[in-house]
This record gives sequence, structure tokens and C-alpha cells, in this order.
Amino acid sequence: MLKPMPIAEFLKLFPNDEACLDYLFSVRYGDEFECPKCGEEGLFKKLSNMPAYTCSCGHHVHPMVGTPFYKSHTPLQKWFYTMYLFTTTRHGVPAKELQRQLAVNYKTAWRMGHQIRKYLALVDGDPPIGGHTEIDEAMIGGVRKGKRGRAAEGKTVVLGMVERGGDIITRIVPDVRRTTLERHIIRHVDLGAAISTDELNFYKRLKMYGYKHGSVIHKAEEFVRGKHHTNTIEGFWSLIKRSIRGTHVHVSAQHLPKYLGEFEFRWNLRHRPDQMFPCLLRRLATSQSRA
Ligand SMILES: [Zn+2]
Repeated sequence: MLKPMPIAEFLKLFPNDEACLDYLFSVRYGDEFECPKCGEEGLFKKLSNMPAYTCSCGHHVHPMVGTPFYKSHTPLQKWFYTMYLFTTTRHGVPAKELQRQLAVNYKTAWRMGHQIRKYLALVDGDPPIGGHTEIDEAMIGGVRKGKRGRAAEGKTVVLGMVERGGDIITRIVPDVRRTTLERHIIRHVDLGAAISTDELNFYKRLKMYGYKHGSVIHKAEEFVRGKHHTNTIEGFWSLIKRSIRGTHVHVSAQHLPKYLGEFEFRWNLRHRPDQMFPCLLRRLATSQSRA
């Protein structure tokens, strides 16, 4: 299996801000970029006094405009390093860790992390899944309150749908009513797919919508019935819960979608770890987002 980029290689490719900017220019404009002013191709040169390139006709282009790097006080190489960390970790990157490694203040580190997460979610997208899909809900985030056994406050219900050997899609849902769950399933899972769940009650009408549904009853300590089990989706829940506990301590409902997007990204690209960094950077460089 392909491996993510080793740190030594990262530093060789991106030794300074200028190398990062060159890379950004190439990804964003390609090498046959036509000057919007004179129409000539490939004549752009780096300006020495600002992060921009100029055509021989005098027209300037700014590769960072429209990306989170633009107007950021943090040097470009630190942004690249942050993306490197996010695409090579398994459990996510806490703001504290970014603060320490980048030598920036906590607020800056926190903001950078959230910017990157936003783009990780955009890269991932949500094409429909099918095949054999496992579906389950989980309570995630919030603050642990009181003694053992007490329900934590502010937990969010998340619906997870994962195709075995394929992609995962998660959605925050307001409740676990049958109709709420069904709408998400119909939208994201191909008709005719086999679906495994653990609670028959929430999902008993799936057959009516054209799915081949089977379930196991965890309450009765039944974990596998024929080809039906929910081990894959439960593996994802335990990864994200452990990571949030271990690295982020607390994730509010407001920010949970970004964390979910981050973990979906890593899950869905798990067989192509070498592509995580270039995919993320391409998205950043070409996204229309001006936020
Ligand atoms: Zn020109």
C-alpha cells in the first residue's frame, strides 16, 4: 500500500515559503496559463517583493487570493506544514499541538485547524454509496457531566452510513425518528443495496424503499447474522470517539460537522494516503470559496 509522504520528503519539496508559492501557482494556473491581459502563455515570473507573479506585460497574479493563506499573518510554509500534519495523522491534530509545532499563538492555531477541516470536508464530498452498506447512529461530542452512567450533556446524534470496502457518509440528525433516518438513507444509499443495521425498530421499513435489509440485535448479544453485522461502522465510531477524547477533549455541536468531515476524508482516502496532501491542496487552490 502507498504510504503518506515522509517528513524529510516534505521538507525537501517545500523548504521555504517561495517553494510553497510556486507549487500553489502551478496547481492553480498550470504551466500553460494564459495572461488575462495580453493573452501570452507561460511567461509569469515571481516578484521579489511580494507573493505574486508578473507577466512580461506587467500584469500581476496572486496565487493566494481566495485561499485561507491570503492575508494570513502565518507564513505559507507553516500552512503547508499544517496540511501535511492533517493528512498524515490518524487521530487528528489538536490546536495545542499546532501551537507548539508552528510556534504561533493558540487562537491562530485553532483557527488554522478549522480552516483546514473545512476544506478536508469539501475534498471528500458525498457521492452515493451502495453495495453492502452498514448503518448506525451514535451520540458524539458534548461534555461529560456528573458521575458514571449519567448521560453527557450536549451530545449530538450522528447517522453513519458506510459501504463495506468503500466510502462513509455521516449526517448530524435532530432525532432518531424513523422518517428522519429514512430520508438520509434514501438520499445517500443506492436503491437495491444490502443494508445491515443493529436496531430493527428504527429501520424496519427499509425493505419498503427497495433495500435488502438485515439486522442483528445487539441488546440480545447477537453480533453477526449471516452477512449482517455493523462492525465497520462501529469501528469508525470508536476511532472518532477515541480521537476526540484523546486529542480534542471537547468538541461542541457547532464544530462537530467539521470534525466529522475531517474523519470522513481520512477514511475515504485510506487506501490512497499519498494523495491526501495533493487532494487537499488542489481543493484549497481551486475552490471558489472566498470565506
Ligand atoms: Zn501579460
